[in-house]
Amino acid sequence: LPPMASEKDAALAAVPTDSPTIFDKIINKEIPAKVVYEDEKVLAFRDIAPQAPTHIVIIPKVKDGLTGLSKAEERHCEILGHLLYSAKRVAEQEGLEDGFRIVINDGPKGCQSVYHLHIHLLGGRQMNWPPG
Ligand code: C5P
Repeated sequence: LPPMASEKDAALAAVPTDSPTIFDKIINKEIPAKVVYEDEKVLAFRDIAPQAPTHIVIIPKVKDGLTGLSKAEERHCEILGHLLYSAKRVAEQEGLEDGFRIVINDGPKGCQSVYHLHIHLLGGRQMNWPPG
């Protein structure tokens, strides 16, 4: 992709796949990331293309077929809860006491570009509704 490609272009060009993604490289420390929170199950790091003063991506360390939320199965309920609770903890850690937004993009129409489930945590500015 050209460097100026928009997130939407990236999402439309992304091929939904269960293969390893760039997030595995972040988990394995093969590429650097600004990690803000980590435990045995999840990793949270600053988005490289922040859409708000605080923009953090929270991911499961083990993908287990969770390319996106639409692929969730009963066995994923625990990690899904853990991810959401971790997002709340990171929001607190970032001082977002006046509010924040959680986003999960799914599939081409949802503007998903990385096929490893992730939660976006956005804050530090007034959000708008409806989203784009
Ligand atoms: O929801 P979506 O799949 O579009 O989100 C992927 C996010 O991962 C993007 O916001 C992108 O900026 C971010 N990203 C990142 N570091 C990378 C590659 C992508 O923070 N190395």
